[in-house]
Order: sequence, then C-alpha cells, then structure tokens
Amino acid sequence: MTTNISRRRFTATIGLAAGSLLAGSRKILADIRGNDTKSGIVPTMVNAAAQAKITVQPIRRNISVLEGSGGNIAVLTGRDGKLLVDAGFAVSREGISRALASINADPIQHLINTHWHADHTDGNAWLHSEGAAIVAHENTRKRLAVDTRVEGWNWTFPAVPAGALPAKVFVADHKLHLNDTSISLKYYGPAHTESDVSVLFGEADVLHVADTWWNGVYPFIDYSTGGSIDGQIQAAEKNLALATDKMIIIPGHGPVGNKSDLAQFRDMLVTIRGNVAALKKQGRSFEEIVAAKPTLAYDAKWGQFLITPSAFTASVYMGV
Ligand SMILES: [Zn+2]
Repeated sequence: MTTNISRRRFTATIGLAAGSLLAGSRKILADIRGNDTKSGIVPTMVNAAAQAKITVQPIRRNISVLEGSGGNIAVLTGRDGKLLVDAGFAVSREGISRALASINADPIQHLINTHWHADHTDGNAWLHSEGAAIVAHENTRKRLAVDTRVEGWNWTFPAVPAGALPAKVFVADHKLHLNDTSISLKYYGPAHTESDVSVLFGEADVLHVADTWWNGVYPFIDYSTGGSIDGQIQAAEKNLALATDKMIIIPGHGPVGNKSDLAQFRDMLVTIRGNVAALKKQGRSFEEIVAAKPTLAYDAKWGQFLITPSAFTASVYMGV
C-alpha cells in the first residue's frame, strides 16, 4: 500500500537532496506514516486509546500491568501509595482511574516516565493533579519542556504545562524504595530515543524495559530525538544481560514476556539490520532495498502493528 508512494517520494526527495541521504530517508519515513492529522500514527494511537478498555494483569507480588492506553503501564501498590511506570494517553483518564481503583484503594503517589514520548507521558498532568510526584531522565524533562518534532510520526508535540513536567530528574541512575520494593532506574544511553530508562523491581524480579522492547511487533525508532537501530540493538543486549531466567519483563508495547521472548526481538533486529546494511553496501537504492524485502522472514509475525515492513526497513536504512 505504501510502497509505491514511498518509492516515488524517495526518488523525488533524493534527486533534490543529493548528498543528504539521511534527510531524504527522514522525509520518506514521514511520508510512510501519513501526512494528515486524521490518519497519521499519532491520531491513530490516541483514537485507539480512547476506544480501548484498560485491562489489568496481575504480574507478581504487588505489581500489575495496565494495557490499552499507549505504552504498557506498570503499577506497584502498597502503603506508600501507588507507583505507576508510564502514564498513557490523557484520553484514558477515566479508564485508567477505573483500572487503578479495581486493584485497590491506595492513592496515586508516584509516576516514573520511561521516556518522553506522548504515549507514555500524555497522562502526566492528570496524574500529577491526583498527587503523583514525577521522576524521569533529564532528557525527558528537556523534551517535554519545549515543542518537539518527531519526523517519523510527522508530528510536533507542544510543550507540556509545568505540572506535567518531571519534578525529579536524574542522569545515570536513580533508586527508590517504596512498598517494600527496591526500585532501580537506569539510563540506557541513546536507544529508542535519548531519554529511555529501565525500571527494575528488585524483590519481584520484574523489569520494565520501556520502548527498548516491542514484544512481537516492529519497533518505532525515533531518530528525531536521538534513537537509532544501533542504539535499539545495544539496549536489547543490555536487557538480555540483565535478565534472569525467572524474570518477568514488561515491554513498552506488546504482551508481557520473558528473557527468551526478548532474545527473539534482539535476533530480529540484528538480522534485519544485517540484511539492510548488506544491500546498502552493495550500492542498492532505497527503493531497490524495499523491493528486496529484507524483513520478509519476519513480516508475518512482526509486521502486523503500527510499523509496517517498509516503514521498518526505512528506519533501519537510516541508521546503517
Ligand atoms: Zn516511545
């Protein structure tokens, strides 16, 4: 569906922008994602969240996962109040409130943003108004504080109000101890964006790895704010190094999984990166690379969500 458009646009763009392959592929990536405010990826995600029922999945000990509003939300409950990892979209306020109340009556007290993207931070304002103190990497605060453009989504996110900004930020790592649980936040370095952090619940052996893992679907990689295919692969390697055999791992998107699921994601990324890089090294054009279907062996499993095979090919192409 998008291939003809992408070929034509890419050829046109590249003809005009000789020597600027990266800029050209950014343009094409934006084209692939849709150019109007109704059918683009951001409105699609918001509409899906508005219509979704928010589900609650108990994970282990006092930890649950809420699904249905943008990224997966982890919830830790106890006498220190609820701690949420990620905030979903603001349109889901009612659904998330209902889901949280269905777990227990503990008040909302803490929120961690795994990175700055709106499908993980759009709910910051209402959660803060209900009492959540927000913690994130310093780059999350920097991005949320100003208008930020994501070319791959063809979308500019306006600066958020002061109450939606993380009040506490950190650089490399940060530790909390709440609800009888040691909580370790760790910065990945540039990965899916340049603001991604993991959240480890020590005693429960549960790890939220944010959008460094999309379980069963091709990932979106945000080159506009510091992400890259190589950063995404490095983060997957870090996750695998940290994962124990019994660990429950919460991806940014897709079902909760384990170490072997995570290894499949890493292997998919590495193989497709290799395929695309080899074709590019042969001097093939972007259109020839898409036509060669470097993702084909993975498309039936991984190509069924927001990021199509050609869009994922473009996003790998940009980084090799
Ligand atoms: Zn993201």
